Amino acid sequence: MFTIAIFLIAIALVLGLWAQYRVKSAFTEYSEVRISTNMTGAEVAQQILNAAGIRDVEVAEIDGILGDHYDPSNKRLCLSSEVYNTPSVAAAGIAAHETGHAIQHARAYAPLQARMAVVPITQFTSQLLPIVLFGGFFLHLIPGQLAVQLAALCYGALTVFQLITLPVEFDASKRAKVILGQMGIVQPGEEALGVDRVLNAAALTYVAAFVSSLGWLLYFLSLGNRRND
Ligand SMILES: [Zn+2]
Repeated sequence: MFTIAIFLIAIALVLGLWAQYRVKSAFTEYSEVRISTNMTGAEVAQQILNAAGIRDVEVAEIDGILGDHYDPSNKRLCLSSEVYNTPSVAAAGIAAHETGHAIQHARAYAPLQARMAVVPITQFTSQLLPIVLFGGFFLHLIPGQLAVQLAALCYGALTVFQLITLPVEFDASKRAKVILGQMGIVQPGEEALGVDRVLNAAALTYVAAFVSSLGWLLYFLSLGNRRND
């Protein structure tokens, strides 16, 4: 198990870096490509929401590059300035993806509901994990056996969260591609290809995050087994 763990952690590291590079390069390239409908990300999001009959979601502009997200607790579709204001292929793809999450929420899509339910546990373990790692393995304030068990527990929770995140993200991108085509916002050919490249690169980062959590979970589980031997 130890060897598999190290292998997964290494794979995840390479995959994660490659995915981040792909996201940045695809976003930069297709931010320069104007969509023929000339709609900004904000207009794309609003038009899709209208067509889906969703009236209670606000489209808001936020700071930060690639910080786009849908906030289900406030029903806010937060688009970064670059996406919000730009009539590009990249902006249309990202705006449609985030609107996909709003549609999942409105339609009570089960994986999104499951993901929302485990968010508090994930937030707790994300805060606990650095304390366990630093206090246990660096300062040795927590007994070794307990630190290993706590770390395995944290990574177990994170792995479940990352796993539930995968169908949520894949489904939002799938919805985005279909809707953009059906509504004629993005034209077949280069525009549709650009949307695919931007969204597929983003999906890869979630796969890398899952593989990384799984690798660390197996690593701490194997440490626990060794100590028990
Ligand atoms: Zn998403």
